[in-house]
Amino acid sequence: MSLDPDDWSAARDQARRMLDGVFDHLESLRDQPLWQAPPDELRAQYREPLPTGPAGLSELGDLFQTAIRPYSSGNAHPGFMGWAQGGGTVAGLVGEMLAAGLNANLGGRDHMPLEVEQQIVHWTRQMFGFPEAATGLFLTGASQANFLAVLIARMRALGPHVRHAGVAQSDRPLIAYASRAVHGCVGRAMDMAGLGEGQLRLVATDDRGRIRLDVLEAAITADRGAGALPFLVVGSAGTVDIGAVDDLDALADLAAVHDLHFHVDGALGALGVLSPALAPKFKGIERADSLAFDWHKWGQTPYDAGFLLVRDGELHRRTFASEAAYLQRADRGLAADGWWPCDYGPDLSRGFKALKTWFTIKTYGAAALGEVMANTCVLARELAGRVAAEPDLELMAPVELNIVCFRFRAGTPAEADALNAGIVADLQEAGRVAPSLTRLDGRTAIRAAIVNHRTELRDIEALATSVLALGRAALSRSASAA
Ligand SMILES: *Cc1c(COP(=O)(O)O)cnc(C)c1O
Repeated sequence: MSLDPDDWSAARDQARRMLDGVFDHLESLRDQPLWQAPPDELRAQYREPLPTGPAGLSELGDLFQTAIRPYSSGNAHPGFMGWAQGGGTVAGLVGEMLAAGLNANLGGRDHMPLEVEQQIVHWTRQMFGFPEAATGLFLTGASQANFLAVLIARMRALGPHVRHAGVAQSDRPLIAYASRAVHGCVGRAMDMAGLGEGQLRLVATDDRGRIRLDVLEAAITADRGAGALPFLVVGSAGTVDIGAVDDLDALADLAAVHDLHFHVDGALGALGVLSPALAPKFKGIERADSLAFDWHKWGQTPYDAGFLLVRDGELHRRTFASEAAYLQRADRGLAADGWWPCDYGPDLSRGFKALKTWFTIKTYGAAALGEVMANTCVLARELAGRVAAEPDLELMAPVELNIVCFRFRAGTPAEADALNAGIVADLQEAGRVAPSLTRLDGRTAIRAAIVNHRTELRDIEALATSVLALGRAALSRSASAA
């Protein structure tokens, strides 16, 4: 029994109407609320029993329009500045649609979609100054890419035997290093790799949020003296909280001296190399042994599109490749030998994330993407300037890239924490601009991560103005209550 439509022409018309609905949505983003909480009665509709009979595409399209689309997370909206999320593009949308139509499986075999993914690998080698022997592949996100990098570094330190015997065969505990501002997924990667989150040393940072090299070096020496095996150092090209960029060149030197695998978590910032204005900040990234980054953040490709680039392609392959009769390679035919991504990561079945990324890069060009990134940094500096000029506001961290952490000054530290948390919740519920919260040195901060290409100066102004208004209103409420 085929699941294809009985009436192809009706299905086409219906699909075209749905695509129109998507364009209507994108064209009118600015006029819509950024976010609204899903109403309970709508949530309840998604607890129905498993449907056994059919429903019409048109009915489902209507449900999508009325019950799903208006209640999504808002990261496409120009006022979205929460966390660090990309906005998506029309080119990416089209690429994703075409990829779904093709339904290609990019685990391996001999077909053109793999050439498209290789094209992106080739471009990333060029972008980051990696050699031809470097390998790369798409993953869901930088969390996965960082995890794979830890496994590759583990392989480099312990050799192929670790894949069979596990880490138990090592009599020296493996120790990794990163700044205390490193993303939490690196600790989880250590855990998932069987090495233990506690074996990731979180090194102090300097006044610009960068890893302190003197403290790092002392930690490595102390660990080695105690009989441990330092094996990995992770540099951040844009820390998640404030966008700090470690001194990557110095980390590369240090990794060479101490024989460590040098991995860079560039989820947030690495694609900044596409902007001539930003590229110098990432000097040394070209010396990394591996690099994780996200096309779906600054790269504006629709979710999800993470990426891992590995300098030593053979080490990469040896970390994951295994033999299986059903995956045998042939001299010719569909199973012809070549680049099979299943040899380079844990996934066997893989979607065609490369196509939406290829559409994004080809449609706009690398220069325009770089300009978008540079512009978000200009907006961040504007916001920082506005904060600095406003006695009621306080800048909480230096602005290196596109993230501004600040807060409304008020009363005791605990009062200020509560007031700023309230401001952020109010802003999100009002649905015009949405920053998120973080904590810096034990203090609550409003965090504006300006990632979306749609964000403009008026959105920055709306944020500053609304924070001031909400903060002042809260202060006068507590004054009149006292
Ligand atoms: C977002 C982020 C990650 C995690 O990436 P995902 O794509 O969400 O898995 C890791 N590190 C940094 C610095 C990030 O900003």
